Amino acid sequence: MTLLEKLEVYGKVLQNESMKKHTTYRIGGTVDYYIYPKNELALMRILQLLKEEQVPYHVLGRGSNLLCSDNHFHGAIINLDRTLNDFFFEKEGLLLAQAGCSIINLSIEAMKNSLSGLEFASGIPGSLGGALYMNAGAYKSDIASILKGVYILRDGKIEWVEKEDLDYGYRHSLFQNHKDWIILGGCFQLKEGNRKEIEDLMASRRQRRMESQPLDMPCAGSVFRNPEAMPAWKLVESLGLRGHKIGGAQVSLKHSNFIVNVDQTATCQNVLDLISLIQTKAKEVYDIDLITEVERLIW
Ligand SMILES: Cc1cc2nc3c(=O)[nH]c(=O)nc-3n(C[C@H](O)[C@H](O)[C@H](O)COP(=O)(O)OP(=O)(O)OC[C@H]3O[C@@H](n4cnc5c(N)ncnc54)[C@H](O)[C@@H]3O)c2cc1C
Repeated sequence: MTLLEKLEVYGKVLQNESMKKHTTYRIGGTVDYYIYPKNELALMRILQLLKEEQVPYHVLGRGSNLLCSDNHFHGAIINLDRTLNDFFFEKEGLLLAQAGCSIINLSIEAMKNSLSGLEFASGIPGSLGGALYMNAGAYKSDIASILKGVYILRDGKIEWVEKEDLDYGYRHSLFQNHKDWIILGGCFQLKEGNRKEIEDLMASRRQRRMESQPLDMPCAGSVFRNPEAMPAWKLVESLGLRGHKIGGAQVSLKHSNFIVNVDQTATCQNVLDLISLIQTKAKEVYDIDLITEVERLIW
């Protein structure tokens, strides 16, 4: 059997798939294999097969925090969204969820169960795996604040890791230093609350996002982490860069910590050049090193 035939035993495989279809930036080259494993066991076998054939791979979520290279990737992208997306509510607010779950969907399900803690996630278009990797958050809350622990796949073994051992901080987790670890799912402690209040809070935050973010254009959320001195959007704004354009990449007119892919013509390099210009100016004018929140996948 060829590698493709073997992979197809364990999941759905798309060949020469464009990453434009799998990133919210709508940027990225093609990849040899884009794979949806059938389940965890199938995932483990797929990883063995790729290793045996020395095929490099990355595990991604919904591509909502990613800037992908325009080049072709001779390798595989593994996506858990379609198949590893079960979740379970136990009594007393305990939630167990697989990495492929949408966190927007989890926040809605929590609300339906009158459980509070995930309201911040109701407008973040990522998977649970991506949220645990990034420590996604908003409104002074983040995924780590409700986390008990994570199931990970490392060195071919499934392990439970306590939150305290994952070095969580502002948009930071230990996963960012161990890119070969695969997040399989997480366990969360939510609090009993009032369904109507939870629903109202989520609705008001969604409204705020719609008013302040360029949700009608391809983007990947905030480009820079907020430095201590001032919010990143304010800093970019004060540098006079709101609306600045390089190729098809533009600092959003609506929110200056967002870069948008105008008319879907931007290349990865356009976005990188714009990021680099902002960083250089921030250093020159304020002596601030702006750190990107967006993950780069350059091949
Ligand atoms: C309009 C918009 C608004 C946003 N608002 C916010 C916000 O308010 N707050 C915020 O924090 N973010 C925000 N984001 C960014 C983004 O949605 C989050 O960072 C989200 O958590 C990324 O999840 P993802 O599944 O898309 O991850 P991806 O972008 O697919 O991946 C991000 C990283 O996680 C890793 N990863 C993903 N799944 C796994 C896994 N199972 N195992 C190991 N590694 C994995 C990937 O390898 C990659 O390095 C926004 C994005 C957009 C487009």
